[in-house]
Amino acid sequence: MKKNLLSFAALCLISSASFAQRTLIHCGTFIDVAKSNTQNQVTIVVEGRKITAVQAGYSTPKGTDKVIDLKTKTVMPGLTDMHVHLEGETSKDQLIKRYQYNDADVAFEAARNARVTLLAGFTSVRDLGGSGVNISLRNAINKGLTVGPRVYTSGKTIATTGGHGDPTNALSKNYTPDPHMLSAVVNSPDEARQAVRQRYKEGSDCIKITATGGVLSIAKNGKAPQFTDDEIKAIVETAKDYGFHVAAHAHGAEGIKRAARAGVTTIEHGTFMDDEGIEIMKKNGTYLVPTILAGKTVADSAKVMGYYHPLVVPKALETGPLIQSMFAKAYKAGVKIAFGTDSGVSLHGLNAYEFQYMVEAGMPAIEAIRAATVVPALILGVDKDFGSIEAGKVADIIATDGNPLQDIQLMRKVSFVMKDGVVYKQ
Ligand SMILES: [Zn+2]
Repeated sequence: MKKNLLSFAALCLISSASFAQRTLIHCGTFIDVAKSNTQNQVTIVVEGRKITAVQAGYSTPKGTDKVIDLKTKTVMPGLTDMHVHLEGETSKDQLIKRYQYNDADVAFEAARNARVTLLAGFTSVRDLGGSGVNISLRNAINKGLTVGPRVYTSGKTIATTGGHGDPTNALSKNYTPDPHMLSAVVNSPDEARQAVRQRYKEGSDCIKITATGGVLSIAKNGKAPQFTDDEIKAIVETAKDYGFHVAAHAHGAEGIKRAARAGVTTIEHGTFMDDEGIEIMKKNGTYLVPTILAGKTVADSAKVMGYYHPLVVPKALETGPLIQSMFAKAYKAGVKIAFGTDSGVSLHGLNAYEFQYMVEAGMPAIEAIRAATVVPALILGVDKDFGSIEAGKVADIIATDGNPLQDIQLMRKVSFVMKDGVVYKQ
């Protein structure tokens, strides 16, 4: 009896393997991000969640093969946004929500934000800071309980007292709990190490720190350094022990330099980067994640009366408009660039506006697309499986109406999304 069951199981496996349905995706234009070129009339063969072949011409279906006709479209790998906050979204009452929302409220909104992000063509995101709901969201998406991009998350942001990311900034003492509750607020190298270990315990994928002040925190200075060299070094060293890379939010020049010197992998925003900062980043291979979209969004919203707290308005007006020109300078100087928007600061699902801003600032369209495909896969250490459309990689594939290499605004017209071999939009 036992033997019969075993052979029945074996037979099922064999039959499912031999009858695995192939999907042939007929691509009108195919952007090969690995080779930085385009080809016309290409077939991508998908079996299960993997790409098994990329063939010239439109291959003829056989047997149970299914065909997806994208002959009028431009096909490329699923995009990755290296800086989002899925838990929240800009609104006039965003501050008030901190007192009204429970984790479950946050989770439902986060699930909605994840869905619109995926449908905009972003099959992966790096979530750089929230309450920890972002970790549960990642797990729920991976289990198929809700629809969204593949999430790599830092969990909570690590900050210093009063710094960007201290969740009790500007609150009355009644809302300021025991500092031990705020395990992501640190004030020494030892506490910094502990905070990295806490992120490991909670299930983070990477580490985010706020190396300088920020625009949207209720605090006066958006530029000053907020970590000492020793603290950042302790974080980077400890992160390495756990296989984490470190992302550093940094606007001011000094904080950018401290973070880049200490060996963080990415600098987020980089607004007031100076020539010395550029040199350190080039020498250490530090990536800039520019978030031009966030800069433009906060500068616009700051002009709306009452949209932001009075402490935020002057910072938003000063910082926001500078990011695009800083990006232009850093890119031209040879700093490595990864695509990121800080969506949540802007509306989710509009991430692709960033491409337009990058191209306006002098980056060729193919480079901007590589910054959202090949480059993130390298930073996240998943380039074996993701980042390009090649045999053996996971089938994260999107298509736009028209060729974005000719008109970059077409990156906002994503009409086909496949993630893990499953079609989410067609
Ligand atoms: Zn951010």
